[in-house]
Amino acid sequence: VITIGTVAKLREYVAGTRADGRRIGLVPTMGALHEGHLQLCDVARRHADAIVVSVFVNPLQFGPGEDFDRYPRDLERDARLLAGRGATVLFAPDRSEVYPDGAVAVSVHAPALGDVLCGRFRPGHFEGVLTVVAKLFNMARPHCAVFGRKDLQQAALIRRMVSDLNFDIDVIVAPTVREADGLAMSSRNAYLSAAERRSALALHAALNAAEQAFMAGENSPAGIAAAAAAILEAEPGVTVQYVEVVDPESLLVPRRVERGHAVAVAGYVGKTRLIDNHILE
Ligand code: AMP
Repeated sequence: VITIGTVAKLREYVAGTRADGRRIGLVPTMGALHEGHLQLCDVARRHADAIVVSVFVNPLQFGPGEDFDRYPRDLERDARLLAGRGATVLFAPDRSEVYPDGAVAVSVHAPALGDVLCGRFRPGHFEGVLTVVAKLFNMARPHCAVFGRKDLQQAALIRRMVSDLNFDIDVIVAPTVREADGLAMSSRNAYLSAAERRSALALHAALNAAEQAFMAGENSPAGIAAAAAAILEAEPGVTVQYVEVVDPESLLVPRRVERGHAVAVAGYVGKTRLIDNHILE
């Protein structure tokens, strides 16, 4: 894997790759890579010839008091993991490369989709995400880009941005990768103590309870959310932010729950904010 740190070098690589008629797949990440990220690379390789993985901890998407400063960073380890998974380029720009003026004067904002669910608790977060992803799209000019379903709201927003702003990019959303006991993989799991790690399992258990309620015939969003909330509230180590049943594209709460709707949860385990979701089967 070639590590590239500047937009100019990336553009050179991209121009050459495109001139050779090779398809480029982009996997945007914040690094501290885990198996979830690596499986996005596997998916990208099925759709593209050259895989660009970006590693950039984007200051724009962190609020005041959030974990920007302590977010885990280990570029050498990331490069090693990517080399083993067939990634072609590791694009790891400095902050000054992405934001040469320190900030942006123009950004991408999606009030209806970005202000619900996580957006209620992280004002400005999705504007930061969409803005950096739009920039990465223009830097890497990928034919396709792969995102994880674990970040359900992010995936819905990116799909909508690509459609509304006419980016010529296929957006692929890949399934959530979990630890053997069900915990959704996340770079932030590294913050958890052993006891917190056990409490965090309640998120997955809550999603299972929602699926069971749905299978038992419950079809009101409130009823299914209540089944999940009961599990979370029984776990003193978890402070719930939201439990909601939504349409995964519109993010609206449906009148009646159907297969394909999503149960989404967010909460704190200690000082660590975790999210998870499940598509009802
Ligand atoms: P992050 O580095 O956490 O910003 O995530 C980068 C990309 O990896 C996003 O598209 C995430 O949705 C995706 N991702 C993170 N965790 C997982 C996971 N456990 N399974 C699948 N995709 C994931």
